[in-house]
Amino acid sequence: MSQDIVFTLIKKEEKRQKEMIGLIPSENTVSPEVSKVLSSCLSNKYSEGFPHHRYYEGNQIIDQIEDLARDRIKELFKVPYVNVQPYSGSPANTAIYFALMQPGDTLLGLKLTKGGHLTHGHPKVTMSGRFYNPVQYGLDAKDRVDFAEVRKLALEHKPKVIVAGNTAYPFELDFKKFREIADEVGAWLVADISHVTGLVIGGEHMSPVPYADVIMSTTHKTFRGPRGAMILVTDKGMERNPKLGNKIDSAIIPGNQGGPHNATTAAIAIAAEEASRPEFQGYIKQVRKNADTLSKALQAKGLDLVGGGTETHLMLLDLSKVGYGLGKQVAFAMDAAGIYANANTVPSEVVSPFYPSGVRIGTPLVTSRGMKEKEMEMIASWIAKVVEIVKEEELPKDKTKRASFILEFEKRALKNKELKAIRKEVKALTKTFPLFTW
Ligand SMILES: *Cc1c(COP(=O)(O)O)cnc(C)c1O
Repeated sequence: MSQDIVFTLIKKEEKRQKEMIGLIPSENTVSPEVSKVLSSCLSNKYSEGFPHHRYYEGNQIIDQIEDLARDRIKELFKVPYVNVQPYSGSPANTAIYFALMQPGDTLLGLKLTKGGHLTHGHPKVTMSGRFYNPVQYGLDAKDRVDFAEVRKLALEHKPKVIVAGNTAYPFELDFKKFREIADEVGAWLVADISHVTGLVIGGEHMSPVPYADVIMSTTHKTFRGPRGAMILVTDKGMERNPKLGNKIDSAIIPGNQGGPHNATTAAIAIAAEEASRPEFQGYIKQVRKNADTLSKALQAKGLDLVGGGTETHLMLLDLSKVGYGLGKQVAFAMDAAGIYANANTVPSEVVSPFYPSGVRIGTPLVTSRGMKEKEMEMIASWIAKVVEIVKEEELPKDKTKRASFILEFEKRALKNKELKAIRKEVKALTKTFPLFTW
């Protein structure tokens, strides 16, 4: 069995991760303990239901594990209620909406192109945008959430739920202001802190706990745990409806899911313990320092960042002044040079979501590997070099020529000697930064 090609491919992927610099802000690298628990016998067991109320026998030990996971998360965030069963962030949001809204109710969320998530009511192609009535807010001239617009839209459309969350928004979200608006129109406030959970725990981002009714977070981003999610109900939410916890539970099962992924639940318990250590606070402080250093170094090299920088773990390189529709080319060339991130729209996007003008960059993964300010300076220099190498490779204005242009560009980039030279330097640097460092 160990001869199976899948194992060979896993080895290759491990090598890729080790020899490259990962700057995708939603990615991280888990501890050997989290990894071990994920591949344990726990995934053999079916446990539909919740601890001490299961549809299947044989859950005496699983119950203790899920209790532990829930208790640790409650303690970490100081909230009265937790559900650790969502399969991932998107189904967790689906369950929250299912608990709080009826089909056709209004959902107010941040536009995808301004840094929101698909599940925040992106129209037409998503469930949240089709089963509910999505109304979407944007950003002001400084690329910050436009609270005047949020308030205006809330007063006009009377949303049942306001979701405050971000996927590609580099600044702190002011949950207090969202709460004031939610109170004004009687809406539920859902804080989706998938990206910034670790920062909230580390005291580097405003906590939504005093303000939101319900909080959702993935567990695999800055939280540094397994792929999964958790739903928290705050004291505020419980005050408003003492049954809110039960409503969330039944929105998970029978509402949206079957059996929980017990190995993931156990890994969440492990990650919660890791996140409660003083070292985690240190890790998060370094994530922020690295983001600030990278942001300043990129700008010192003459590159633009959306909103002029970052207050979190992520930033958006805005290439629109360098050339037309360069996001994909720069992201691809960075990957060829050993540094991977993702092309992303910028708030003032004039090209297209398929061929955007930005690249999203974040520091959680490289910080987990032990990189610090010095390495951020090196990474900024490499990124600036890559931009210099590909800046003439503008996207054709003629839409019918774009796909073939990108294909040709990719072939050229893979053969480019300068990119290959950077890749060698990157590989040399990564040798001293193992994937697991804590
Ligand atoms: C990542 C993310 C999600 C979705 O999580 P998945 O695990 O990818 O389904 C939802 N909301 C926000 C804000 C996110 O960043």
